[in-house]
Amino acid sequence: MCIPCVSITLRAQNLTAMSDIASRLEQLRSEVPEGVEIVAVSKFHPVEALREAYDAGQRIFGESRVQELLAKIPEMPADVRWHFIGHLQTNKVKALIGHTALIESVDSEKLLDLIDAESRKAGVTTNVLMQLHVAREETKFGFTPVELMEYFLERRFEKLTNTHICGVMGMASNTDDMERVRADFHLIYDVFDSIRHNETLGLRGFDKVSMGMSGDWRIAVEEGSDLIRIGTFIFGERQY
Ligand SMILES: *Cc1c(COP(=O)(O)O)cnc(C)c1O
Repeated sequence: MCIPCVSITLRAQNLTAMSDIASRLEQLRSEVPEGVEIVAVSKFHPVEALREAYDAGQRIFGESRVQELLAKIPEMPADVRWHFIGHLQTNKVKALIGHTALIESVDSEKLLDLIDAESRKAGVTTNVLMQLHVAREETKFGFTPVELMEYFLERRFEKLTNTHICGVMGMASNTDDMERVRADFHLIYDVFDSIRHNETLGLRGFDKVSMGMSGDWRIAVEEGSDLIRIGTFIFGERQY
């Protein structure tokens, strides 16, 4: 076996992938309309890849596992804004609090209340998005549109002291049927918009809707998204 040859080949592949990151980002920025923010979803990618994106001007990074996020933070410059986008287990909340610019994936009231309690203990305010479940897949976490409307109409947010609900995050069904994808995004935006425009709730700073990934962000933006979460297009396929 020629082991040195293998390692040289791997390194060469890495270099190609790295220079791709900057050009992919540039391409994405040229296509994404003004006012739409890009979250670079860096989960499962090494810090070197994140640095490449950072050097190309990227500042918002999305991670889906607490341990991985906490390991990457000290390896990256301090002005990175970290978004947590994965299912957050209740036993990991305490470790995460204080380290995120935005937790996009609050998928239950129990989790939200825990985030609030831990934020209070830590003396910080945590920004969150409520995750809506509209997709067909049974396995996805989140509030149904009805559950989320009820949460707000029953004013259950009023007991929060250290959590700021900034808006809504959602995913479309995992399907090639782009009309279905569009309908899912349309529904997410509709729910967001009716909460936002309900004057009686008196919400402030409820103004973000995060939807769209590598394969469907164009449709998401057409349907009103102002935060898109892009992993594969920027960094390539993830190695799980
Ligand atoms: C992994 C992930 C993404 C990125 O998906 P890509 O298809 O790689 O762009 C976006 N949002 C969430 C919630 C994710 O878990």
